[in-house]
Amino acid sequence: MKKQICILGSTGSIGTQALDVVREHSDLFEIYCLTANNRVEQLARQAREFRPAAVVIANDAHYDRLKELLSDLPEIKVYAGRDALDQIVEASPIDMVLTAMVGFAGLSPTIHAIRARKTICLANKETLVVAGELICRLAMEHRVRILPVDSEHSAIFQSIVGEGDNAVEKILLTASGGPFRLFSKEQMATVTAADALKHPTWEMGAKITIDSATMMNKGFEVIEARWLFGVPAEKIQVLVHPQSIVHSAVQFCDGAVKAQLGVPDMRLPIQYAFSYPDRLPLSGDRLDLFRGPLEFFEPDLDKFRCLAIAFESIRRGGNMPCIVNAANEIVNEGFRRGECSFTAMADIIERTMERVPFDASPDYDTYVQTDAEARRVAREFMNI
Ligand code: NAD
Ligand code: MG
Repeated sequence: MKKQICILGSTGSIGTQALDVVREHSDLFEIYCLTANNRVEQLARQAREFRPAAVVIANDAHYDRLKELLSDLPEIKVYAGRDALDQIVEASPIDMVLTAMVGFAGLSPTIHAIRARKTICLANKETLVVAGELICRLAMEHRVRILPVDSEHSAIFQSIVGEGDNAVEKILLTASGGPFRLFSKEQMATVTAADALKHPTWEMGAKITIDSATMMNKGFEVIEARWLFGVPAEKIQVLVHPQSIVHSAVQFCDGAVKAQLGVPDMRLPIQYAFSYPDRLPLSGDRLDLFRGPLEFFEPDLDKFRCLAIAFESIRRGGNMPCIVNAANEIVNEGFRRGECSFTAMADIIERTMERVPFDASPDYDTYVQTDAEARRVAREFMNI
């Protein structure tokens, strides 16, 4: 029986690499559904190759075009709109849902998939940043497994597999440090989106590449690790490791440290989530430890204020990480459009944190309201 996979965000960086994995192991995996936001031509090409039962285009303005592009393949059902994402993940043949879409938009379909008892292969870290407690509670209630796709979290997961109840003393979460690792504060004030989009070790979608340059991505990953592995933030140490070879590590109660190493290639964590607990062959480069030294540095929280902001949001708890996520989505896009400077991003997020009402025990509706309000406030600050 092939595993039936639904990919939310199949036209993106993670989505297309997931399709590479499925192509290489077509004897084990089959695509049940593909979804995208706007890239309708690419989605149609993917559907032509993988012949899913259904495709969904989230932006319904593209529905007619998608229908037309697939008119000779009537067996592929075509849907549009956000609600269609929530509905499709519940389809009974689906075994696994890969959440590879960007931002808060991933929250609702992930909740629907958990309620329908689908295994979650989680790339969309924003879901856990915004609503980690809710998601973990639902996953527990519905006895659903959440398998990490983020490379660091996959490395941590691979390091704890087989350890049973052995106590974790500390998580060592590595970060490349991004393109501005060696820049001064003054230099950082004038960098452009084009500079920030040149990541030294990973090729990723635009939003996460900017988040890596500010290190907000690493802050989000601390939150993600906290929920995925039940380890408090104080026991998660961020290490800047420019080579991106040690993908993260776990220290156990006897002082033993286990890490997962490899060349930077997202296909491995994607494939491991799909095939867990088995490992499957994967083509591509192999690690050569003779190629150079592996270095580790402490992060500079003064220079990378977004990382400090993420830590502060964990400390405050409640809907604060949701506020930070929403404000970050706005400034991230604003910076890419040239509407604010690199350093203004942290300022705007901080001001948004002080303005949006705090809620110590949010539910789903609180998250939706908080997200909308924080976006509105952050936009307002950006336009001043
Ligand atoms: P991307 O921009 O390359 O692709 C995003 C995909 O999601 C596209 O298919 C797009 O059509 C779809 N999408 C975007 N917004 C949507 C919306 N509002 N509604 C429905 N669909 C939408 O992004 P990516 O780099 O592949 O990242 C996807 C997720 O995976 C993010 O949460 C990111 O943080 C996480 N992630 C990515 C990487 C990486 O290497 N790219 C690594 C770790 C985690
Ligand atoms: Mg990562």
